[in-house]
Amino acid sequence: MLSSRHAIAFTGAGISAESGIPTFRGSGKDSLWSRFKPEELATPEAFERNPRRVWEWYVWRMNLIMKARPNAGHEALAKLEGLGIIKAVVTQNVDGLHQRAGSRRVVELHGSIWRVKCSNPACTFRAGIDEPPEEIPPRCPSCGHYLRPDVVWFGEPLPQDAWGEAVSLAKASDAVLVIGTSGAVYPAAYIPLIVKEGGGTVIEVNVAESSITPYADIFLKGRAGEVLPRLLNAVMEGFLK
Ligand code: NAD
Ligand code: ZN
Repeated sequence: MLSSRHAIAFTGAGISAESGIPTFRGSGKDSLWSRFKPEELATPEAFERNPRRVWEWYVWRMNLIMKARPNAGHEALAKLEGLGIIKAVVTQNVDGLHQRAGSRRVVELHGSIWRVKCSNPACTFRAGIDEPPEEIPPRCPSCGHYLRPDVVWFGEPLPQDAWGEAVSLAKASDAVLVIGTSGAVYPAAYIPLIVKEGGGTVIEVNVAESSITPYADIFLKGRAGEVLPRLLNAVMEGFLK
């Protein structure tokens, strides 16, 4: 890490698990998908069918995230950026916890739960929100259609600007710190692969092996909130020497 010229972090739901936000695929009863069926909630078709139900799920998640706090893993990444060791965090998370921990350059590949956009393709209305809407489903102030969360649902393309930025960051990187992701969601999971194919080092932090593990150069098994502060300390010691 210290000898890298340009390192980035690539994060998934696992980094927010210790903040009390359930992952999608991880094991255990807390996994979101064990209580909700994704095909009923995180798809455009689900929203067409039952926008209220989809919104109820998002309001539940928003309340959970509002009560949550960034953990030692998010904080360590913000400090690594402050030290100039990592240049950016590319995240699949929609919770905004990296920003709340102080990370400055955060590329959100799957959007943000703290933004809404109009579900009418002909309307360009978008807005940031800081709490769940009072009435669901909320209506677009511009055209009257339903507003939807500005997140990427199954079957939808990634936001072009975020994807473009992530790919150029990955191409410029000689190291990537992959944290708490199953590596099962594409195209996001190409990001660490792009670094690897460019000859860069892949360092993975996860409580379990993932689809990334077979090509990771270093696998640090453990919780993000424990491993990342240790990594930060090791880097700082190297820094001071
Ligand atoms: P995932 O649920 O598929 O995988 C989570 C990974 O985190 C697993 O590999 C698991 O072993 C690991 N993990 C669990 N606890 C950990 C810990 N304490 N420390 C380190 N690793 C831990 O998540 P994903 O790969 O991010 O893909 C799921 C999709 O779900 C993404 O597209 C994302 O948009 C969405 N999602 C976001 C949030 C969020 O914003 N917090 C939460 C759930 C899902
Ligand atoms: Zn509209």
